[in-house]
Amino acid sequence: MSWKFDYVIVGAGFAGSVLAERLATQLGKRCLIVEKRNHIGGNAYDRYDPAGVLIHDYGPHYFRTNSDRIIEYLSRFTEWQPAEYKILSWTDGKYWQFPINLNTYEQWVGHPATSAEMAAALAQWRIPIPNPQNSEEVIVSQVGTALYEKFFKNYTRKQWQHDPKDLDPSVCGRIPIRTNRDDRYLSEKFQALPQAGYTAMFHRMLHDPLIHILLKTDYRAVLPHLQFGHLIYTGPIDEYFDHCFGALPYRSLRFEPETLECEFYQPALQVNYPNDHAYTRIVELKHATRQRLPVTTIVREYPEAYGPGKEAYYPIPAPDAQALYRQYAERAATEKQVSFVGRLATYRYYNMDQVVGMALAEFDKLRNRQS
Ligand code: FAD
Ligand code: UDP
Repeated sequence: MSWKFDYVIVGAGFAGSVLAERLATQLGKRCLIVEKRNHIGGNAYDRYDPAGVLIHDYGPHYFRTNSDRIIEYLSRFTEWQPAEYKILSWTDGKYWQFPINLNTYEQWVGHPATSAEMAAALAQWRIPIPNPQNSEEVIVSQVGTALYEKFFKNYTRKQWQHDPKDLDPSVCGRIPIRTNRDDRYLSEKFQALPQAGYTAMFHRMLHDPLIHILLKTDYRAVLPHLQFGHLIYTGPIDEYFDHCFGALPYRSLRFEPETLECEFYQPALQVNYPNDHAYTRIVELKHATRQRLPVTTIVREYPEAYGPGKEAYYPIPAPDAQALYRQYAERAATEKQVSFVGRLATYRYYNMDQVVGMALAEFDKLRNRQS
């Protein structure tokens, strides 16, 4: 038997779902999404656990963007619940305000201070490095060695199993450092969660008679039975090419949820543990969803090596991995009937909004190719 589609799309995450929605609704194309997991949404998937608490199964997903185009696009499928993502860091037996801001500085020096005083202190502590080349340099050039060692060095080693010196500046550089009292984890102008959750948003996005979804299926098992014009691939790029240039490195994670008989377990949405425990953070999403329940669910997140049976969660932003990725990217550019889109297919440490932007750009390219 052979099934006919205009597009076969591997993966039902943001990359695959945005493209399916655009191709079906704007160009009238018949799309088949093949997804190996038993649900849509990719890593942004969320669900109500047995206690009735909304949780993110694959780590906390804090939506944020500066792009009006992306807000406008996603708002067709969801209402939003504004969220201020507040995070603390636990070390030396107490909670610290994080990311580093004027409140953190006051805790550090032990007395009230002004922004000007903090800026003057940082100017003394920072190590002058005009063009930071790695994740250690990007932090010490802003706040000096002591704060770097307290909040960044060991967290980063635990998360990536790489020293910050061996990671791109963008890894630690994405954490803001402020001399005012703005203590939000993120700086983008729009910060919100889909009101009914990500999974509900994906259901609305994919609700079209031209979109067919095959769950619990590796695309390689069905490809020989399909006729189609173009393939959109959103899985790991080295897997697509049978690791022909060698395996790309990834970081994996283990998530350990626990439901507790109390309204809240911790004082903030997320607590980071740079220097204690094998886990990097504990997330209590209820702080952001504002669900009113007498119970709560927390999720501890343990970094793990990637290997057989493990999910590839993070591409590793380091020079040697990028060099290997470039070989795959060159090979991918020769595959004219295949688009490689998304975080794993382009091996980039991208946030959800950036992946939506990438998928919309790919749609524009595919549409132009038609005309
Ligand atoms: P994915 O969501 O990974 O989707 C790819 C899909 O392809 C998967 O469902 C996979 O099962 C499927 N697939 C792969 N191979 C095959 C195959 N052979 N056959 C069939 N299906 C296949 N972003 C933010 O903006 N804010 C955050 O707070 C945030 N937190 C994050 C926390 C964690 C722990 C992680 C891992 C990521 C986080 N992200 C966050 C990033 C976000 O998850 C991604 O940007 C986004 O989900 C990527 O979408 P995607 O479609 O590229 O990939
Ligand atoms: N980081 C750190 N200490 C922290 C938080 C983050 O050293 O308390 C570093 C770490 O290397 C981490 C990176 O900054 O991987 C990016 O952090 P973010 O919370 O954005 O990571 P993600 O949510 O993508 O895992």
